[in-house]
Amino acid sequence: APLVHARNLVREYAFGDTTVRALDGVDLDLPGGRFVSIVGPSGAGKSTLLHILGALDQPTSGEIVVDGVPLTGLGDAQASEFRRRRVGFIFQFFNLVPTMSAWENVALPRLLDNQSLRKAKPEAVALLERVGLHDRVDHRPNELSGGQMQRVAIARSLIMDPAIVLADEPTGNLDSRTGAAVLELLATLAHDRPDRLVVMVTHDATAAAATDQVITVRDGRVVI
Ligand code: ADP
Ligand code: ADP
Repeated sequence: APLVHARNLVREYAFGDTTVRALDGVDLDLPGGRFVSIVGPSGAGKSTLLHILGALDQPTSGEIVVDGVPLTGLGDAQASEFRRRRVGFIFQFFNLVPTMSAWENVALPRLLDNQSLRKAKPEAVALLERVGLHDRVDHRPNELSGGQMQRVAIARSLIMDPAIVLADEPTGNLDSRTGAAVLELLATLAHDRPDRLVVMVTHDATAAAATDQVITVRDGRVVI
C-alpha cells in the first residue's frame, strides 16, 4: 500500500453564507522512499494539503490514509499521538528552543512523549552527526548559522523515526547554496528509507526541481 492514499479530498471553510474550497477533490498515492514537492500559486491549497497529511487539520469530506492510519474521524488525542509518533515537522523559521542546546532540541520530541531527555542523548547526537553537525552538539541556536539551525530541525524531525516528514518552505530563509545542501540532505533521508516519505511545500522552482516528484496544486486541485 502507498504511504499516502487520498481520494476526493475536499476542505471547505465557511464564512456566513459563503464557502471557500481550499481543496476541491484531491487524489494522491505516494509511496515511501521518495522526496516530493507541492508547488502552486499563493492560495492554491498547498498548506491545507500539508496540514491534512500531518493530521493538523481534517478534510470536510474524502478519504485520507497515512502510514496505514485513516486520518478522518481521529479524535484530538489520537491526532496528537499520530503527529508525535509518525510525523516529523520542519518549518521555514526552524522553530528551535533558544535556551536549549542542539542535542536537547533534537531530543525534545522524546521529552514531549514522556521519555527522558538524557536517555535520548545518544540518538540525538547520532542524528546530529548524520546531518553533519558532530561538532555543534552543545551549541545553542544563536551560535549556529541558518543552515545549521535547519539541520538541527531536520535531525529533530527524525528522532521519533517518523513515516512521513513534512517540510513547509524549509529553504525559504536560507541562501541558495545553503538551501541546496538542505535539499540534498532531505533527498538522502527519503532515499535511505523505502518506508519514509518526505513532502515539502515550496514557492521555489529550483527547490522543487531537486525533488523526485512535483505535485502542482491550483485552485484546490492537483494539476498535471
Ligand atoms: P497556499 O498554502 O497554497 O497558499 P492555503 O492552503 O493556505 O494555500 O489556502 C487555500 C485557500 O483556503 C485560500 O483561499 C485561503 O484563503 C483559504 N484558507 C486557508 N486556511 C484558512 C482558514 N483557516 N480559514 C479560512 N480560509 C482559509
Ligand atoms: P500535543 O501533543 O501537545 O497536542 P501538538 O499536536 O500541538 O502537540 O504538536 C505535535 C506536532 O505538530 C509538533 O511537532 C508540532 O511542531 C506540530 N504542530 C503543531 N501545531 C502546528 C501547526 N499549526 N503547524 C505546523 N505544525 C504544528
